[in-house]
Amino acid sequence: MNHYAAPLRDIRFALFDVLDVESLYARLGLDAAQRDVLDAVLDEGARFTETVLAPLYQSGDAEGCHFDPDTGAVTAPKGFKRAYEQYVDAGWAGITAPEAYGGQGLPDSLGIALKEMIDAANLSWGNYPLLSHGATEALRHHGEDWQREVFLRPIVEGRWTGTMCLTEPHCGSDLGLLRTRAEPQPDGSYAITGTKIFITGGEHDFTDNIVHLVLARLPDAPAGTKGISLFIVPKMKVAKDGSVGERNAVRCGSIEHKMGIHASATCVMNFDGARGWLIGQPNKGLNAMFTMMNTARLAVGVQGLGLIDRAFQNALRYARERLQMRALSGAKFPDLPADPIIVHPDVRRMLLTCKALGEGGRLLAYHAGTLVDVIEHGTDADERRRADELLSFLTPIVKACLTEWSVECTYHALQVFGGHGYVREWGMEQLARDARITTIYEGTTGIQALDLLGRKILQQQGAGMRQFLSMIEGFCREQQHNPALAEFILPLAEKAREWGELTLHIGKRASADADEIGAAAVDYLFYSGYVALAYWWARAVAGAEAGNAGDAFKLAKRETARFYFQRILPRTLAHAAAIRAGKDSLLGIPAEAFDA
Ligand SMILES: Cc1cc2nc3c(=O)[nH]c(=O)nc-3n(C[C@H](O)[C@H](O)[C@H](O)COP(=O)(O)OP(=O)(O)OC[C@H]3O[C@@H](n4cnc5c(N)ncnc54)[C@H](O)[C@@H]3O)c2cc1C
Repeated sequence: MNHYAAPLRDIRFALFDVLDVESLYARLGLDAAQRDVLDAVLDEGARFTETVLAPLYQSGDAEGCHFDPDTGAVTAPKGFKRAYEQYVDAGWAGITAPEAYGGQGLPDSLGIALKEMIDAANLSWGNYPLLSHGATEALRHHGEDWQREVFLRPIVEGRWTGTMCLTEPHCGSDLGLLRTRAEPQPDGSYAITGTKIFITGGEHDFTDNIVHLVLARLPDAPAGTKGISLFIVPKMKVAKDGSVGERNAVRCGSIEHKMGIHASATCVMNFDGARGWLIGQPNKGLNAMFTMMNTARLAVGVQGLGLIDRAFQNALRYARERLQMRALSGAKFPDLPADPIIVHPDVRRMLLTCKALGEGGRLLAYHAGTLVDVIEHGTDADERRRADELLSFLTPIVKACLTEWSVECTYHALQVFGGHGYVREWGMEQLARDARITTIYEGTTGIQALDLLGRKILQQQGAGMRQFLSMIEGFCREQQHNPALAEFILPLAEKAREWGELTLHIGKRASADADEIGAAAVDYLFYSGYVALAYWWARAVAGAEAGNAGDAFKLAKRETARFYFQRILPRTLAHAAAIRAGKDSLLGIPAEAFDA
């Protein structure tokens, strides 16, 4: 049996001791976010995810979703709908949404902590409400007044859910290829026709209505990404006065049979002249969709975080109980027939990798959440702009690194179980299968890397990166005489320096040959992720030393930081070497000679 206990202690450490969100919320005027409220939300979130969602994790995987080809109806596994009702009744759906639309207006960083618990407890279930959050953001920022009035409240209250319909059979990463058409109608609406595939939560039995946000082309649209518009297409037609009418011409054609997340419905959606409404400007759909995609990218990064934590918890428990062989230096538990496997260095390597990437990753992701708080609630325009710059730089790192690390860590955790990890009973193979999709949807790792290096660094002159580097430099300066931090500060400062140098190196090469960007991108992304995590691990040690946590907690943070600096951070050496190798080692073989 796979178990989940919300890591409340480390969540609180990250939020309160390292990120000091209490001061931030006070500064942003978030008066409702007092410590007692935050604690109550976290405690209740832990209870809900541990007792309602986690017990459905393995049963949902075994049962999967059901599709009725006659009606196009999709039914989630047993217990999922009831769990959603409990989620809505408890007010979780709109916890961070604006009060004006029925939300509770609590900070997004708190929402990210809750989301981590949801994803760790039940990744598939968490996918149903996930895109509602993105739809809320897209409507808030780009919708017309009547669209906000009519669609936002039911989504925020959880009575309707949202989807994001981008992908088509021939078009995934390259949205410029999409073909779905939107014909203007005399009443100002549009008739949407086309097929979207892989649509998460495209159909389900949780709510009466589902609001699809669909990318499509107007008849006179220019080719490529400059000719894409965004439309809102509800499953049940909705009039401008909010009244719900008949069924719209959108139907689920089938659901996918997948490697993992069996309980999350992945739908082929057929739009057959469905009635929709334009959101934002014609041909500017990608701008509006980016609002949604950025929210969703952070959210998928948090999925990776949840999976790492759950995999680690289960592996740790097993490593303490499973008895095999003796420690090489002699029995550590002589009264037992063999030592628990946690004594073996290689098992510790796997456990510590999960712990270091998970706990460090929590700070990386929650910090991104605090930037959303500033953007949403800050009153100083310059501060909001800077937060936006930094967040857009960090988003591909959070998305791609946390998900890639979740693939790595769920495999380590499975390995800790030996053969028992490979069989279904313990749920470790499910975690590994479920993790795999996170590096693919919401833009693959390769696409995130191009976004980071191509757009955020080279096109935007690295404004967000410069901010992050100056955060590192400021911290190193502040802590330079702190003996407790000495072993971390020098290597961190050195890595920050090398990061800047590598960036300039790629920039120079890229100005002569754009293929150098693609050749360096993924290594650069990982390099960035590992340096960012080194910063957060150094901050974690400082936070633990300064706080009033017990000695065991301080020791665990310090030793994990040491492990990180000595055994994970050196991965940057390989990435830097690959970056310096340039494009030739990748592009030397002509495509037709690969199998020569
Ligand atoms: C379970 C599941 C749920 C999903 N949910 C949704 C959803 O709700 N809504 C939605 O719209 N879509 C959804 N998707 C689709 C998902 O976002 C796409 O699968 C993903 O964006 C990749 O597109 P693709 O599959 O067409 O791969 P392709 O774009 O064909 O890419 C194939 C490979 O080529 C690489 N590649 C492509 N171009 C480049 C480049 N320029 N440089 C470097 N590498 C490149 C990619 O990284 C990838 O490794 C979902 C997919 C799955 C499997």
